[in-house]
Amino acid sequence: MTDIRFYNTFSKKIETFTPIKPGKVKLYSCGPTVYSHPHIGNFRSFLMADLLKRFLKFKGFAVTHIMNITDVGHLLADAEEGADKLEEEARKQQKDPLEIAQIYIDSFMQASELLNMEPANSFPRATEHIDEMIKMVETLVEKGYAYVVGHNVYYDITKFERYGKLSGNTIDDLNAGARVEVNSEKRNHQDFALWKHDPMHLQQWDSPWGKGFPGWHIECSAMSMKYLGKSFDFHTGGEDNIFPHHECEIAQSEGATGKKWVNYWMHGRFLLFDGEKMSKSKGNLYTIQELIEKGFKKSAIRYALISSHYRQNYNFTFDGLKAAQQAVEKFQQCVTMLKEASGNDSGAVRESITGTAEQYLAEFDAALSDDLNISKALGACFDLIREVNKVGDLNSDEAKVLLETFAKIESVLGILYEDRSDIPEEIVALAEQRLAAKADKDWAAADRLRDEIAEKGYILEDVPGGKFRIKQK
Ligand code: AMP
Ligand code: ZN
Repeated sequence: MTDIRFYNTFSKKIETFTPIKPGKVKLYSCGPTVYSHPHIGNFRSFLMADLLKRFLKFKGFAVTHIMNITDVGHLLADAEEGADKLEEEARKQQKDPLEIAQIYIDSFMQASELLNMEPANSFPRATEHIDEMIKMVETLVEKGYAYVVGHNVYYDITKFERYGKLSGNTIDDLNAGARVEVNSEKRNHQDFALWKHDPMHLQQWDSPWGKGFPGWHIECSAMSMKYLGKSFDFHTGGEDNIFPHHECEIAQSEGATGKKWVNYWMHGRFLLFDGEKMSKSKGNLYTIQELIEKGFKKSAIRYALISSHYRQNYNFTFDGLKAAQQAVEKFQQCVTMLKEASGNDSGAVRESITGTAEQYLAEFDAALSDDLNISKALGACFDLIREVNKVGDLNSDEAKVLLETFAKIESVLGILYEDRSDIPEEIVALAEQRLAAKADKDWAAADRLRDEIAEKGYILEDVPGGKFRIKQK
């Protein structure tokens, strides 16, 4: 097998990938903070992990993937002080933080499905792992990495020699850049909270230090190790996660175990809109549902978000999205033509056909093995499509060889799912009628149609933003 190489944010070098256990990969991804509908910028980062996972599976690895759900502790502006993002939203909407979490977990899951993301093996929630976090904080206090002030616990970054190695920040630089310290109980400006006391916080738990809630970073250390062990292969996130989040995660995890925690760090550069980072705080965002409502295919959105290299910014434009839609259609047309040709008479497979299939699949593999060079990989796919379209008289055996090649490519790209549906047309029609009834505010008809769908064995779910999803019971 040819080498697989990835850029490692930790070493700042391209490295050859060697798994901890042969044939197996353990992957952790920082997931959503569930206080708003995720936007396409968030999904650029999540899809980077999806592409990595699918590619590693294509290479034959058994991948265990964990993605956390942050439902407590993430403060506004990723800062040490200020409101908790979820609680702020709970107050705004006059709802319980857990209700807020559920609304946006559902929204995230629905959008993930629209984008054909392979679900992680588990999506652990911070609020369901408070015990694990408390245990880790206790260990850090025992080992002298953390200190208690009243009901708060902080990590003393001067105790962890490698602090700053991931982000390139030195403690001196950080101190020089720090604003006047508001919180004087900390030993150093950049010490970060592991456990916080705040009587106003809506979500509180008992701990050895009194009632409080965990800092943002500790959840990923505690949950990743619970599900993946003390050391694992990959950790992914967006570039804004590098500091402080991932720097602090390393200090916590390696401080607690004394072992190297993560071997390869992969960070995606931002998706930009009009030259600026797409973000909730700037309000310059699009959700997946919004783009679908504008008439774009979900597979085109997926394609647009994966088709530029993860270590470069992706400037989102509607022209780009239209081009993505055309690209997906080219794939689709070629595969449809091959499916039709697989009904032709059988015959000997010409060497030129196997040669073409092997050559471009090898190019696709080699490109992705080179730090997920997706542009080059897609280039190989379009060369393959062009060659296949040139052959006019495929027999069924040749069509099958080519379809197998496309299936391998599709296992990585995941873009040919637009019209995949096991739901009978009759059910979809009833759901459409219900949508129309809702639009007319004819609630009685809407309820009756939902019941009728249920009687026929299907569950209808409303998707935030207007549409619906149908599942078999
Ligand atoms: P959050 O829900 O804020 O915790 O963010 C979830 C993920 O989305 C994190 O990994 C962020 O780094 C990532 N992210 C946020 N904004 C963008 C963006 N504009 N482009 C790419 N990734 C982003
Ligand atoms: Zn994290």
